[in-house]
Order: sequence, then structure tokens, then C-alpha cells
Amino acid sequence: MKHRRGIDLAAPFPPSSFIEHDPSLYTALKGLAEWEMLGAKCSACGHIGWLNKDAVLARWGNEYLMNLRGKFRCVCGNKDNNTVLIGRLPR
Ligand SMILES: [Zn+2]
Repeated sequence: MKHRRGIDLAAPFPPSSFIEHDPSLYTALKGLAEWEMLGAKCSACGHIGWLNKDAVLARWGNEYLMNLRGKFRCVCGNKDNNTVLIGRLPR
């Protein structure tokens, strides 16, 4: 795991399933349920990353999910036009 600016934004494990977030829904970070995970899919290389919601909240506040897209940088260096993913943990 890579650490940037002292905060580890990566989730400890990936969810069992996920959907692509619809940007027209205006969901904010705190609108996600306890069992929902925040992720992003890179538009350039297709890499999928999962994030620690609490770390994201601490760093950027209760942002709308689509506003967070431009803040995540992929391992390939791209941070444009990424797709927000909502993961579901097994319950
Ligand atoms: Zn990428």
C-alpha cells in the first residue's frame, strides 16, 4: 500500500460486488450506507481502486461523489474522467 501525505486512502480489501455510480444522483459521501464502499475506475487504463471512506471524509469532507472523481489519481497517473464505483460488502 502506498502512503501519500501520511493518509492511507486505500481500502483494506475490495468489495464482493459493485455498481457504477450515476452522477445525476448527487450522492454525497455521507449518503453511502455502512456496507457501501467508494471506488474509482480509471478511464485511461481501466484500473479499479477502492477507498477508505473515513480517510476520504477526513481529507476532503462530505463531498458529492462526482466531485471526488478528479481528486483520485490512478497508478498510471491519470485523474480525468474516472468513473465512481459503489461497492457492496457481504452482509
Ligand atoms: Zn489508470
